[in-house]
Amino acid sequence: MPKIEREPKLDFTNVLIRPKRSTLSSRSSVNLNRKIIFEHAKQLSECDNCAYSTNNVLDLSCNHVTIDKNESLSGTTIVNTGCDSSIEWPSPSYFSGCHAHTNRTWTGIPIVAANMDTTGTFEVYDVLSKQRMVTAMHKFYTLEDFKEAHAKYNLDPDLFMVSSGISESDFVKLGNILSDVQCNWICIDIANGYIKQFVDFCKRVRLQYPEKIIVAGNVATREMVEELIINGGVDVVKVGIGPGSACTTRIKTGVGVPQLSAIIECSDAAHGAGGRIIADGGITCPGDMAKAFGAGADFVMMGGQFAGHDQNPGEVIEVEGKQYKTFYGMSSQHAMEKHYGKMNNYRASEGRKLKIPYKGDLNHTISDYLGGLRSTCTYIGAESIKDISKCTTFVLVTQQVNQHFVN
Ligand code: 5GP
Repeated sequence: MPKIEREPKLDFTNVLIRPKRSTLSSRSSVNLNRKIIFEHAKQLSECDNCAYSTNNVLDLSCNHVTIDKNESLSGTTIVNTGCDSSIEWPSPSYFSGCHAHTNRTWTGIPIVAANMDTTGTFEVYDVLSKQRMVTAMHKFYTLEDFKEAHAKYNLDPDLFMVSSGISESDFVKLGNILSDVQCNWICIDIANGYIKQFVDFCKRVRLQYPEKIIVAGNVATREMVEELIINGGVDVVKVGIGPGSACTTRIKTGVGVPQLSAIIECSDAAHGAGGRIIADGGITCPGDMAKAFGAGADFVMMGGQFAGHDQNPGEVIEVEGKQYKTFYGMSSQHAMEKHYGKMNNYRASEGRKLKIPYKGDLNHTISDYLGGLRSTCTYIGAESIKDISKCTTFVLVTQQVNQHFVN
């Protein structure tokens, strides 16, 4: 017998954020940069324990370094040498300091351009990276494309993701790109993250790349978030089944979870398991983005809102005096035919091709979003993005805005 979950699941349009007393007097006092520590990805960094790099004290109890007696440590105080305190350190030779594998950290504004071929592009990266926002590159870029882009834009390894599907050839291509291009993020992306091969692929990528931040999705429920983090070795789970602006999954399959509830449930699961989430899809305005952070998202990914600008591919089209650009889902017939030459007849198109209003310079849209987010923070007393969820109380509403004068 089919089961019914009785508790209503909510979307962005079902709620507003309740204002709260705040000590923040100005939007400029809000810090949108966030430092995030990842559970699985490891980085080699200077050891904090022995403070070698700051005051030349090397604490051998930190166990992070085996010292070669040929290394010169003149000027270094060595503590905790145990019974080997009579060690003599002949010189000369260079000692590079004590290093340890620690959890990888990332600092930036946790907003990500979707890995769609209209938004996950080097031109979008060029704009977003200036704000320390991330671009998930679409998976059709080749190694040559990355090399050319690196020569042109000097790609920052922290500010873009290399995307991959889950086939053998995807794994090989990922390896080719990462052997030549320095990037700290891998985004493993399939439409239905509930299949077993997906978790297996994530495990394989984790084993191969212990130092990378692995993003994987999409899913929209607690148990799959936990599975990906605990068994798949994933750092960040991408959450969203069906909310996308160019998505028709819910129409074609009847499957999906309203995005606000999906974010609340999945962020709770992820944080309990030591992971993070990206809320992916369904953002239509800066207020939706604030609600996504309020619901517990660590990162927010957007496609449609980052599309339609000068920096996006394609020509401006004019229809009855109005200007548009083309935007389409990556599972749309249009995308399939563009990248694979055809759409297989055993599958239905789960994406739309749309004309969206031409918006000019992407920098203006970004200022609008960041300005909106800062303002949200001042309304609820949040000093940073990290504080938004702690300061958020949602109120259920039947109406979002006054439409009286809107045509
Ligand atoms: P948006 O910000 O435009 O609302 O949503 C972007 C997200 O929609 C993408 O990151 C991706 O997860 C999803 N998406 C992109 N193309 C398609 C598609 O063709 N079908 C479906 N179901 N989802 C898509």
